[in-house]
Amino acid sequence: MSKRIAIVGGGYAGAELAKALQDKADVTLIEQQSHFVHTPAMIRALVTPELLDQALIPYDKLLTRGEVIQARVTGVDGDGVTLEDGRRVDADYVVVATGSDNATPFRPNGNGIATLRAENARVHGLLKQAQTVAIVGAGAVGSELAGEIAHFMPEKDVTLISATPSLFPDMPKALGKGLLAKLQAANVTMKLGARVENLEHLSAPYAGTLQLDTGEAVTADLIIPVIGSRAVSGLLQDLQGVKMSGEQRIKNDQWMRPTAMPNVFAVGDVADIGDGMTIVAISRQLPWLKKMLIAVVGGAKVEDVKPYKPWSKAPILLPLGPQKGQSFLSLFTAGDFLTRVIKGKDLFLTKTHKLFNTKS
Ligand SMILES: Cc1cc2nc3c(=O)[nH]c(=O)nc-3n(C[C@H](O)[C@H](O)[C@H](O)COP(=O)(O)OP(=O)(O)OC[C@H]3O[C@@H](n4cnc5c(N)ncnc54)[C@H](O)[C@@H]3O)c2cc1C
Repeated sequence: MSKRIAIVGGGYAGAELAKALQDKADVTLIEQQSHFVHTPAMIRALVTPELLDQALIPYDKLLTRGEVIQARVTGVDGDGVTLEDGRRVDADYVVVATGSDNATPFRPNGNGIATLRAENARVHGLLKQAQTVAIVGAGAVGSELAGEIAHFMPEKDVTLISATPSLFPDMPKALGKGLLAKLQAANVTMKLGARVENLEHLSAPYAGTLQLDTGEAVTADLIIPVIGSRAVSGLLQDLQGVKMSGEQRIKNDQWMRPTAMPNVFAVGDVADIGDGMTIVAISRQLPWLKKMLIAVVGGAKVEDVKPYKPWSKAPILLPLGPQKGQSFLSLFTAGDFLTRVIKGKDLFLTKTHKLFNTKS
């Protein structure tokens, strides 16, 4: 009899893993949403909402052999998982890939896809009416959003606020410098090294005045807070042997195990194994996890597999609209051309639709 693998969460990690393993084991993917949310396109979809239909992808064609169950998992144990309605999915191995939440309207954040669509329409409406827009947080989402608004809606006054004195201070300098120059050339007002003291909402847009610790105030028709992802780790937090790390993530051992249970694994944003919360990180984690699980269902011991090693210099691609952008590609910093060709033009939509066997 083939081994049973239950995968909780059908984001980048869970969906691709389920597809890759469906011929090697009896795979069940449990995902609470009706559609996969392709986050790299959700930023531009706020500015050009017609993109939303391509960014939200149904699960029905993903697997040909495994099963996708649309349900919320409420419990994980060494024998499988429990669903919200009390059903059980028994399994020899469980992979938790419950990911993270972020700001509205880029993620469902526990709500359904209909709510995400409604939020996209609502905030797009507010954006269209706004003359002044303040983005709080200049990580990847905030910087890209500033660039997308500047490209598609050049008439808006966009301000990007960051607590750090430079953009992407932990990456090679040329990345932040190039981005800064391109955002300024697109007329984005930059407030670097400025902490907002009175943010009213951490993840939902609103109108108001921001007090900065520099003494300045920024009034905007639309304030969009994008201050980072928070892991969805509730399923694991109370299990034996679990150690929490920052952003609610769960610390994994070197074989991607987050608990004292030897057959329960965690991957992607929910798990801290030394990588960032990115698809880029998952693109390194998945080949290792696939290989390990194939070895293990074939009879090998987990500890006999060489431990996982995180990225030392993870790449990052930051489009500022479909034409421009700046990227760090592990060995060098790239500008408009490579950023556009690799990501900015298509936002990985073609690749992701191919994974889901759907048309972009
Ligand atoms: C706006 C935005 C843009 C981004 N762009 C990029 C980019 O261009 N490049 C990049 O490298 N990274 C990007 N990221 C980061 C990237 O989206 C995440 O790293 C990635 O989504 C993590 O994948 P994951 O599979 O771990 O989790 P997720 O994609 O978060 O998927 C987790 C899945 O688990 C499901 N789930 C959660 N709990 C349960 C439960 N109890 N029962 C059943 N299902 C459950 C959720 O519904 C969800 O579908 C972006 C993030 C955001 C917010």
